[in-house]
Amino acid sequence: MSDYEAVIGLETHIQLRTASKIFCRCRADSWGEPPNTNICPICCGLPGVLPALNRAAVEKAVRLAAALQAQISELSYFARKNYFYPDLPKGYQISQYDEPLARGGQFELPMPDQVVRHISIQKLHLEEDAGKTRMVGGRRWIDMNRCGVPLVEMVTGPDLRSADEAAQYLIRLRQLLRWLDISEANMERAHLRCDANVSIRPRGSPALNPKTEIKNVNSIEAVRTAIEAEFARQIREVESGASVKAWTLEWDEEAGVLRKMREKESEGDYRYFREPDLLPIRLEAGWTDEILAHSPELPLARRGRLVEQYHLPVYDAEILTEERSLSEYFEAAARAYPGDPKRVSNWIMNEVLRILRDRGLTAAELKFPPRHLAETLQLIDQGTITLATGKSLLERSLESGRAPREMVEAEGLAQIRGSQELRTLCLQAIRTNPDQAQQYRAGKTALLQWFVGQVMRASRGKANPQETAALLQDLLGTER
Ligand code: ZN
Ligand code: MN
Repeated sequence: MSDYEAVIGLETHIQLRTASKIFCRCRADSWGEPPNTNICPICCGLPGVLPALNRAAVEKAVRLAAALQAQISELSYFARKNYFYPDLPKGYQISQYDEPLARGGQFELPMPDQVVRHISIQKLHLEEDAGKTRMVGGRRWIDMNRCGVPLVEMVTGPDLRSADEAAQYLIRLRQLLRWLDISEANMERAHLRCDANVSIRPRGSPALNPKTEIKNVNSIEAVRTAIEAEFARQIREVESGASVKAWTLEWDEEAGVLRKMREKESEGDYRYFREPDLLPIRLEAGWTDEILAHSPELPLARRGRLVEQYHLPVYDAEILTEERSLSEYFEAAARAYPGDPKRVSNWIMNEVLRILRDRGLTAAELKFPPRHLAETLQLIDQGTITLATGKSLLERSLESGRAPREMVEAEGLAQIRGSQELRTLCLQAIRTNPDQAQQYRAGKTALLQWFVGQVMRASRGKANPQETAALLQDLLGTER
């Protein structure tokens, strides 16, 4: 174990899921569109235009602040952050500075060992995104589609202690943002971007030492590897007698190395001043109260409640609360099929999740409502259908959109038992496979299950497996 510990704070930029940009009427999302096609004079900062604030962006930011139990400012201001960069057409970014939308608050970070760490949130503010530069054919090109996309910048205190914790924080933040429908939080599409401030100190010491800022760490894996690399580099510096300089570093994802971008700029370099073209954000108390009152139960609380109320293992509750609509699907199905929530959970974790992942759907989009899952389980319990048919019903009713009971009747899916039909299927299986029948009789009794499989296949899953096995055993002993 190292004598040093890492002291990490994360600064995340979150793209809000709104219809339009933060100060103009252009669509907020232009993923995959040709460069410079989703722009207007306002987001390009042409002379003489005036920004107008998007109410939906404020609402989503307040919802996030409420979930973090931050203090929401009744009055907050926009400020100009001045810097020169080709993708910033105005020469400044409209952001917030000394009076942000919210301060304080904490992020409850559950670690894999069930310990919950409390990560302080220093501030949360609204700002506009800048454009993008791209190298094509040896030249630098500018795409302004992203100019003016609404962002929340959220800054944690220096409370994370390892690269793993930082990665875990991002995973949980992504879950929360989707849970609250604040952002799609897709890191590949840069909806969630992260800068990491890293310093080291002797383990257990309260000191805060000079930190470096790592820019451009835009996947969970990159956060983990870039922080590990920087932690190791700082230890080497200090142990060789040098000191850590307050640099800004860039993570080169492809090469897997950190590069020095610049000496870190101080806040003074940005010459912040209040934005004269926008009024302050004044939140009416009633409006904020309304948002607070409609704050949904958060993932961690719901996980705890599923364990408590339905007696599920933590493992199940964890998977069911990965996504809000999945947890709602579970609760609706458990209500429609009372008495055995664990069985409902098993079916969701095995059958439903497989379908969702195969098709890239969320539970809310699934055309197999919770009451159909409950109905399927009841059909199995009543002996109307086999387990195999029950499993296939999910897939089939996705195609047809019909209720399970209706499909069983319409497609003749009721299980075959105690009938001449089952006997005929068994005899067929034996007669068409004389070699296996021979081997079974010579003592290779494990082949019985293989024959059951043949009959199940021939009956398209409708044969009752127990009766089939008994019947086959009987017939294999007598029929020759
Ligand atoms: Zn625009
Ligand atoms: Mn920012």
